[in-house]
Amino acid sequence: MKKDKYRQARERMVEQQLRTRGISDERVLQVMRSVPRHLFVDPDLRYAAYSDAPLPIPQQQTISQPYIVALMTELLELKGGERVLEVGTGSGYQAAVLAHIAGKVYTLERIHELVVQAEKTLSKLGLDNVEVFEVDGTLGLPEHAPYEAIIVTAAAPHVPEPLKQQLGEGGRLVLPVGSRMGQMLERWRRTGDDFSHERLAPVAFVPLVGDHGWKDDERRTAWWI
Ligand code: SAH
Repeated sequence: MKKDKYRQARERMVEQQLRTRGISDERVLQVMRSVPRHLFVDPDLRYAAYSDAPLPIPQQQTISQPYIVALMTELLELKGGERVLEVGTGSGYQAAVLAHIAGKVYTLERIHELVVQAEKTLSKLGLDNVEVFEVDGTLGLPEHAPYEAIIVTAAAPHVPEPLKQQLGEGGRLVLPVGSRMGQMLERWRRTGDDFSHERLAPVAFVPLVGDHGWKDDERRTAWWI
């Protein structure tokens, strides 16, 4: 096996981008230190894989900034062994991070090319507790519900009702809610049939497109371009 020349870059990323901004869950920091983010982007972009920025992936989608991946993971409050649902597989990087902590990750993606690529990368890394489904993720994945944690990595105009319904007792749902241009990161929590939520941080994601999302994938210019 080739020596991982990116190890130091990851270490710096954890110390300078994550810990200083308040990510404190040691399990999350440890996973961010070990998942090879550079394998989830185009070879031409590998040099930037551990920089403090989102990166483009095919089909005009993006892989989130490492800090946002770590923050959303921390907000899910995983202790280990959970069944987690992700909507928006993209490159598969967030799914890989989750798979190191959770017991099983179901991840949903609507674009075929991304499904194929993510499956390839995840299996190359030997992550056999992640399953990728090519479906409209705004409908969730009822056949494996309920989930202890659900994460949506695309911008929702409102919380998709099926996802609330598929959340287990005490479960956490973390997602960006707002307009196409900007959203607030929200965490919803289920207690019986009641839901409470917190609004946590301003973010900018690509749109969640589907029955319970935006109706088309038209995109305004993102703020970082
Ligand atoms: N989590 C990803 C980044 C996600 S980018 C990573 O770590 O790389 C957002 C992704 O959500 C895009 O790939 C987009 O195609 C997908 N998406 C948008 N709407 C969707 C829907 N309704 N169902 C499933 N995936 C969706």
